[in-house]
Amino acid sequence: MGLRAVIVGIPGVGKTTVLEKVVGSYRGARLANFGTIMLEVGRAEKLVEFRDELRKLPLDKQRRLQKAAAGKISLMRDKLVVVDTHLFIRTHDGFWPGLPFEVLRALKPTHLILLEASPNEIAKRRASDTTRYRDPATEDSLKEELALARSFITACSTVTGAPITIVRNGEGMQAEVAQGISRMLEKASA
Ligand code: ATP
Ligand code: AMP
Ligand code: MG
Repeated sequence: MGLRAVIVGIPGVGKTTVLEKVVGSYRGARLANFGTIMLEVGRAEKLVEFRDELRKLPLDKQRRLQKAAAGKISLMRDKLVVVDTHLFIRTHDGFWPGLPFEVLRALKPTHLILLEASPNEIAKRRASDTTRYRDPATEDSLKEELALARSFITACSTVTGAPITIVRNGEGMQAEVAQGISRMLEKASA
């Protein structure tokens, strides 16, 4: 089996932007956007139309879609599978794990990468991205999410044995950040 890098970070930090570049520059890599796969299944079942409706569904429905997405990703056999996903989801029932044990068992990550930026940068990115319906945020709520992410990722590492890399996605630095991640993964596969 090839490498399976699971990349996480709070909404609007820049995961998809950076990962599209990583996959574009790495031969044999495939991007698995967990939310996109959940959305495809949710649309087929007429549960949702838009990706930002997924986290508003009743938890049992989200859990079913989550399991379906993890199952589909587990079947991917590319040299490098890059999973674009979340450590936790802000649902009506509270913070809910994006990577509970059974999902981690399916994904089998070899690398865990946490993307971070400052609360101020993330607030601006969320506000300027008109393609999404993002939850309102304050500096305090973003700080809380960033702290929660560090705590959730340690649990994932302990359970899977996969190492954690924390990468700062600085303002305007998306190309350099993508290059750094690609280089690290190329070394790991050499
Ligand atoms: P979500 O978890 O909601 O899918 P995301 O982490 O995938 O969010 P993106 O959609 O990639 O975030 O990025 C959010 C916004 O931030 C986009 O408008 C993107 O162009 C911008 N952005 C991403 N990285 C940077 C960066 N390094 N500097 C400035 N803007 C950035
Ligand atoms: P994204 O485009 O990455 O924000 O993903 C869209 C939506 O998919 C998120 O807001 C969540 O509702 C859902 N999602 C993504 N990853 C997971 C996951 N691992 N577990 C549960 N839901 C997820
Ligand atoms: Mg994204």
